[in-house]
Amino acid sequence: MAQVQETPVKPGYDVVIVGGAMYGSSVSWWLASNPDFGGSVLVVERDPTYEFCSTSHTNSCIRQQFSNEINVRVSQFGAEFVKNFREYMGNDPRVPQPLIHSFGYMYLADNADFAGVLKENQKLQAACGAGTRHMTPDEIAAAYPFYNLEGIVGANHNLVDEGYFDGATLFDWWKRSAREKGVEFIANEVVAMTRNAAGTQVESVTLKSGEIIACGTVVNASGPRAVLTSRMAGIDIPVEPRKRYTFIFAAENPLDRDLPLTIDPSGVHMRTDGQYYMAGCPPADDPAPDYDDFVQDHSIWEDKAWPAIANRIPQFEAIKLINSWTGHYAFNTLDQNAILGRHTTVDNFIFVNGFSGHGFQQSPAMGRGTSELIIYGEYRSLDLTPFNYDRIERDEAFVEKAVI
Ligand SMILES: Cc1cc2nc3c(=O)[nH]c(=O)nc-3n(C[C@H](O)[C@H](O)[C@H](O)COP(=O)(O)OP(=O)(O)OC[C@H]3O[C@@H](n4cnc5c(N)ncnc54)[C@H](O)[C@@H]3O)c2cc1C
Repeated sequence: MAQVQETPVKPGYDVVIVGGAMYGSSVSWWLASNPDFGGSVLVVERDPTYEFCSTSHTNSCIRQQFSNEINVRVSQFGAEFVKNFREYMGNDPRVPQPLIHSFGYMYLADNADFAGVLKENQKLQAACGAGTRHMTPDEIAAAYPFYNLEGIVGANHNLVDEGYFDGATLFDWWKRSAREKGVEFIANEVVAMTRNAAGTQVESVTLKSGEIIACGTVVNASGPRAVLTSRMAGIDIPVEPRKRYTFIFAAENPLDRDLPLTIDPSGVHMRTDGQYYMAGCPPADDPAPDYDDFVQDHSIWEDKAWPAIANRIPQFEAIKLINSWTGHYAFNTLDQNAILGRHTTVDNFIFVNGFSGHGFQQSPAMGRGTSELIIYGEYRSLDLTPFNYDRIERDEAFVEKAVI
């Protein structure tokens, strides 16, 4: 087995990325793939097994159904990227072509106010070219007769570029291809940062193994630990870990068609997952756990998930839990939207943080935008400025209403 590299080859790099999971890989790949970038990139990853990162716990779904136009556009690029992955990877014959399993998200409304929000969202999404349609209970029943629609007044659903995608393939190939293009990935931890005398730049990062590495730009791609990394540069951001539970179950009487990713008014979501089904939900009480706390709470399945599933789909009275896991969202407590861009004072410190449960699908667009910011000093493909860090300093929320 190849030895994992722990020590950087050089004393300094143009870009040092803290965290080497989905975002460290995406940003480094976009940088290394751009002929206008001739710099050096070091990616530092504290756990190269990736056992506990969000990326390893993801449900890997993509949707067009957001309440902000820019989030719709970001996911639309995500879908285009997935569907043309091999082409984006230079038509490399080794690269597989992932598909999107478009079963769609089904947002169920049990009151007129929420149905009104769904109708507004549908208009915005349709104006962006998304296939979302608002459905009456009769229309839902005709398309998906297995739902118990008691109390449901409407829903939004979209069958185009919305469902599961094989994000693990993107992750693997971004890492592999970035390495082949000269990006250095090391197994180590950034434990400190040193700023210049004026406090306007991070001059170096200190590794757990003791080396001090000079840097032109630092990218914070530390997932739920983002605030620990930013504090090394004297910066606070409203990002906390939040536990999210995933359950895989088998049904004694499987459905005769795909189960859309159904967002039940109870807060439980459920969907088709190959021969099985997947469900998930937040806990009723949602505090920030310890960074290393991945303990499963089985009462959530018994008391919350299973009853909600059996209520919405009576055919799921007889189901068997097959597997479950707990992952951490990097939860932006201000507005549940990504935090991107440069810090206002420490201007070589760049954020890709706070994705709050929808970061996997956003990684193509956000990685590309961040690479553009580093190379050109501006976003070129999609204007991602609404996500910029400066709103955090102004305490100005950019609210995304469709957070699961
Ligand atoms: C249960 C669950 C379901 C989800 N479902 C979806 C979904 O369906 N669709 C979707 O779009 N998104 C989903 N997400 C969100 C998505 O998985 C994340 O947004 C995405 O994986 C974040 O990637 P990341 O690289 O920012 O963070 P992470 O994957 O957490 O990676 C951060 C990395 O930084 C490393 N690190 C931290 N500090 C340091 C340091 N000081 N030095 C070196 N390394 C460090 C960590 O070890 C880690 O590997 C889900 C998340 C969870 C938890």
